[in-house]
Amino acid sequence: GKMKTGLQKTRRVLGTDIRDLFKAEGRLVDEDFLGELYARLIRTDMGAGPAGRIRDRVAKDFRGRVVHLEEVVETITQDIREQLKQDHGDLAKADSPPTVILVVGVNGSGKTTSIGKLSHHLVSQGHKIVLGAGDTFRAAAVEQLTIWSERIGCEIVTGPSGVDPASVAYQTTEKAVEIGADYAIIDTAGRLQTQGKLMQELEKIRRVIDKKLPGAPHEVLLVLDATAGQNAISQAKGFSNAAGCTGIILSKLDGSAKGGVVLPIREQFELPVKFVGLGEGIEDMTKFDPDTFAAALLE
Ligand code: GDP
Repeated sequence: GKMKTGLQKTRRVLGTDIRDLFKAEGRLVDEDFLGELYARLIRTDMGAGPAGRIRDRVAKDFRGRVVHLEEVVETITQDIREQLKQDHGDLAKADSPPTVILVVGVNGSGKTTSIGKLSHHLVSQGHKIVLGAGDTFRAAAVEQLTIWSERIGCEIVTGPSGVDPASVAYQTTEKAVEIGADYAIIDTAGRLQTQGKLMQELEKIRRVIDKKLPGAPHEVLLVLDATAGQNAISQAKGFSNAAGCTGIILSKLDGSAKGGVVLPIREQFELPVKFVGLGEGIEDMTKFDPDTFAAALLE
């Protein structure tokens, strides 16, 4: 399905790399083989931890034997599946609607697009939603989100440029209650210059939402760009810590030949990957599922 298409680039690299290790008659699992396997796994950006674990597992199961491609692929797939087994794309739900979802992330990470896709996903399941344009410092962000709301056919709450994002968040929650929406999805600012201020702002947003609707927000989703390097990931950790994130939307996984990056991201953030972005279109996002993901990496 979508995951398989989205991970085409990774599969081309990893699949070809692993296949190249074998001849039709199989290959003896010795130190040479294990070293080569490790190097190829590392190329997917899965990180030394997971790559080492997979190598050790292959060593334990097969050392001194001649193995075939399928056996090794099965071991790799199994390991990845186990590492990610707790992750799934199910969103937390309020005891009674609306469920409030706050979306945070660095500018350019794909935050607006991800909100559009998530909204479309929920609306196509029959839910009524309200969007909140909480990134009030970027006129373009408000415009973009307004365009998404028109495409999707849902309500949006905006404020004048530069208005306190917390007031937009409050009004969005209020609106969701008023019209009996199932979900309120609130955008937030994604600038990085002033970590302290950002933290205060996010805390204030959470406070006012909770005041309007005790227990909200029910989800705080961090949007991460899968093609960004380690540096961007470190920066995003600031967001994650400040915002009390509950899950990750990993965007642009289609743009990367390094789909293995899901593993270290999962490890570093200690947050479940809930959705993955697999293209620019409105349908190009899928709920994360470890089995489908593991299979799509190598199949
Ligand atoms: P924001 O600044 O974080 O709100 O980022 P945008 O939502 O405006 O996205 C930045 C760019 O990334 C845009 O050109 C999007 O079309 C693109 N983009 C977002 N998500 C994906 C994805 O999953 N795959 C691809 N290929 N592009 C994406």
